[in-house]
Amino acid sequence: MSTLLLRNAYVVVTMDGREIPHGGIYARDGWIENVDHSADIPATADEVIDLTGHVVLPGLVNTHHHLYQTLTRAFPGAQDVGLFDWLRRLYPIWARLTPDHVSTSTRLGLVELALSGATTVFDHQYLWPNGSRVDDQFLGADGLNLRFHASRGSMSLGESEGGLPPDSVIEDHDSILEDTRRAIAIHNDPERGAMRRVVVSPCSPFTVTPELMRDSADLAREERVRLHTHLAETADEEQFCLERFGHRPVAYMETLDWTGPDVWYAHSVHVGDDEVRRMGDARTGIAHCPTSNMRLASGLAPIGRYLEAGVPVGLGVDGSASNDSSNMLAEARQALLLNRLAVSPGIGSGAQLTARRALDLATAGGARVLGRDDIGVLAPGRAADFIAIDLNRVEFAGALHDPVAAVVLCAPLRVDHSWVAGRPLVQGGYVVGVDEPGLIERHNLLARDLAG
Ligand SMILES: [Zn+2]
Repeated sequence: MSTLLLRNAYVVVTMDGREIPHGGIYARDGWIENVDHSADIPATADEVIDLTGHVVLPGLVNTHHHLYQTLTRAFPGAQDVGLFDWLRRLYPIWARLTPDHVSTSTRLGLVELALSGATTVFDHQYLWPNGSRVDDQFLGADGLNLRFHASRGSMSLGESEGGLPPDSVIEDHDSILEDTRRAIAIHNDPERGAMRRVVVSPCSPFTVTPELMRDSADLAREERVRLHTHLAETADEEQFCLERFGHRPVAYMETLDWTGPDVWYAHSVHVGDDEVRRMGDARTGIAHCPTSNMRLASGLAPIGRYLEAGVPVGLGVDGSASNDSSNMLAEARQALLLNRLAVSPGIGSGAQLTARRALDLATAGGARVLGRDDIGVLAPGRAADFIAIDLNRVEFAGALHDPVAAVVLCAPLRVDHSWVAGRPLVQGGYVVGVDEPGLIERHNLLARDLAG
């Protein structure tokens, strides 16, 4: 039995409706027992931490990323093009990934995300060249105290069959399914409080055959794990789906039984009102990736309409090569700013996304998208996953009128502290147990080696 007491926070934001001044949290064995004013919770614990001057929030949840792409940020030739040309430029580079590249980039990207407040991360890796496996990602995450949902992603539709990727990076249908079952058996923990999960994640309609999409859905439902893919990201993809399958992307996925509360799509930019409504009815979720959508000039996702329709919405920093960062606080800010553009005169209409709603997408919304009822809000019975940001800094000076909104409206920062299951992840602005300079040096060496 071990107990943790955080107290005297400037404000504790529970994300289930309460903002508690002079707040505190009492947790036992990694689970929250009490969230209240510091005077109204137990006064002692095995570990007591004074958070005077800090805002405390639930740990942030990232719902879409490609950690391996930290190796190809700001890559020449892929800086100023749309999705398909960007992919064509990068596939041959990524085809050189080794297990070492996969594990080191996973670690680097997870550290970067943790510093920005993430405590739960989903990563969508879909190509496994040169003997790399999802096991290499779990190896990279080893010793990091955050919740990691890895994908056994896949690509099976190569250039010779009309797909986008070169045949050198696609895999055979049966071996994908076999290795997916293996990965789930070894790494997936279905229990509440899980630190490791596996998601079945074929890459996209233009890289995967309909047969693999359908068989992946069957496998995921048999194994009781979740399903994820990219969908309706660009106009190119819509054109591809219409020509090849005779359907727009959302309708195509409906023909494959790829809808429902166990499914979430990344992006979903190019959708009509009727498709939004059907996604809401089915409770199919989305990972909103505003930075990537701007970086690749993909378009404006209709977030206001998704929320009105009851679609579960989380935030994703998306690929490091189409965002060039892995920063959850920055993504919450981008979500707010891009929504303001989406509802501006001449472009669209609707209510402005508030800073609190952006935080909701980054916490409770993300938890819902990942199918977790144990994280995302600070309440008794939830996991003791929280972040603390010191308000006494240049970036927040003059913003104490509303420190909660300031977390989103002011410049994004490194968080000062975070805990997952009541154990430290970030302390004093650094990830516990990580040799940051050594990791950066190793990662840069591997990135150089990959570029060739
Ligand atoms: Zn992506």
